[in-house]
Amino acid sequence: MNETHNRALKSFVEVPQEHDFPIQNLPYCAFRRPDEEQPRVGARIGDFVLDLKILEHAGYFKDTALGDTHVFCKWALNKFMAQGRAAWHGARARISELLRYDNPTLRDDEKLREKALLPIERVELQMPVEIGDYTDFYSSKHHAFNVGTMFRGPENALMPNYLWVPVGYHGRASSVVLSGTPIRRPFGQTKADDADAPVFGPSRLLDFELEMGFLTGPGNELGEPIPIERAEEHIFGMVIVNDWSARDIQKWEYVPLGPFLGKNFATSISPWVVTMEALEPFRCAGAEQDPEPLEYLRIRHEATKPQSHAGERSGSGVQGSAYDIQLEVDLKTGTLERPHVLCRSNFKHLYWSMVQQLAHHTASGCNIRPGDLMASGTISGPTPESFGSMLELSWRGTKPIELPNGEQRRFIADGDTITMRGWCEGDGYRIGFGECEGKLLPAKGSGS
Ligand code: MN
Repeated sequence: MNETHNRALKSFVEVPQEHDFPIQNLPYCAFRRPDEEQPRVGARIGDFVLDLKILEHAGYFKDTALGDTHVFCKWALNKFMAQGRAAWHGARARISELLRYDNPTLRDDEKLREKALLPIERVELQMPVEIGDYTDFYSSKHHAFNVGTMFRGPENALMPNYLWVPVGYHGRASSVVLSGTPIRRPFGQTKADDADAPVFGPSRLLDFELEMGFLTGPGNELGEPIPIERAEEHIFGMVIVNDWSARDIQKWEYVPLGPFLGKNFATSISPWVVTMEALEPFRCAGAEQDPEPLEYLRIRHEATKPQSHAGERSGSGVQGSAYDIQLEVDLKTGTLERPHVLCRSNFKHLYWSMVQQLAHHTASGCNIRPGDLMASGTISGPTPESFGSMLELSWRGTKPIELPNGEQRRFIADGDTITMRGWCEGDGYRIGFGECEGKLLPAKGSGS
């Protein structure tokens, strides 16, 4: 860990305690200034966005590993992500330095500060990354077990491959949308168990999936796998992902090739890309894996300690391939007074870690490119409060969720809003992801 992680570090930009975006975080975004058509790259501090294009043009990154490469004037993060770890660290260290309370460079240059630091309400957030490919894993054993139990019973819940293969499928990048984008209830084929033939119509079992995704940095050549020891060099940062799912469409279509229309209508991501460097203090041991994975998926030096603490800043660094990220999902309906918390989970509950996912994904020689999105799969924990989908929370609709105003939900209703939050709790500060939110609109042609 380095100076950017120092928990005593303060910015001249005031950031309240418990705020998602203190100087230790500095996530990236793409945004539009009120006076500019073209999006550009920024970093978040407190309730402000720091315009990195302006700083780049003023030469503030020239003496970092970025050198003369212009990456922040682009309309998404891809070019920056392609530069690799030394450049990522150089940029973060410089941004952190410029925002420090005791550095006059930006603090006392009123003209530059006015131009470069924009109140969050004055910017329009954009998709942070041009996502070339989207892969969705299935890495929560608890989730796989729950879903398997519902459909096959507890004895056959886990498929025979589950503890050997980080299972995943290739998703659809074109329908990944920014938090806040409304989601249309999709149409598709569904078939009731006792019906002779399927029908075509709006999905009736619309669900969320609480996931997190990592975004890739430098790619690999086609035919050249990324070995697990080098996987971290290819992971830039993370976002919250809601992998909206139409359970009834999925159920009818998924054999033998996996999900199709049940998943391809929308996937939401949060706008702030939190870097792996910012998450470093929150590394922790991953799930115990039994059987031991095959050689190419084996992680060496997994910590024996169950969890790290951000306060411990020993030079040896924290080991582990998982991250302690708390997650929460809430529901707003047209009539609820306050949002209702549906579940609380944690990213560390996953069975397969990100480096294993990436090593497996590329083991065939498949190439990744800067800006690919790799989502975790639904992050369910071991307890019913930590289940990461309506399918599990209402146990396939058999146990309706009771809301405080007497309403019930088995799945998501038209007009409902689902909001996901994620954060790491540090010693005196938090590293937050902000929100990933989406409101469900009625199917096309049925009302509004
Ligand atoms: Mn999913």
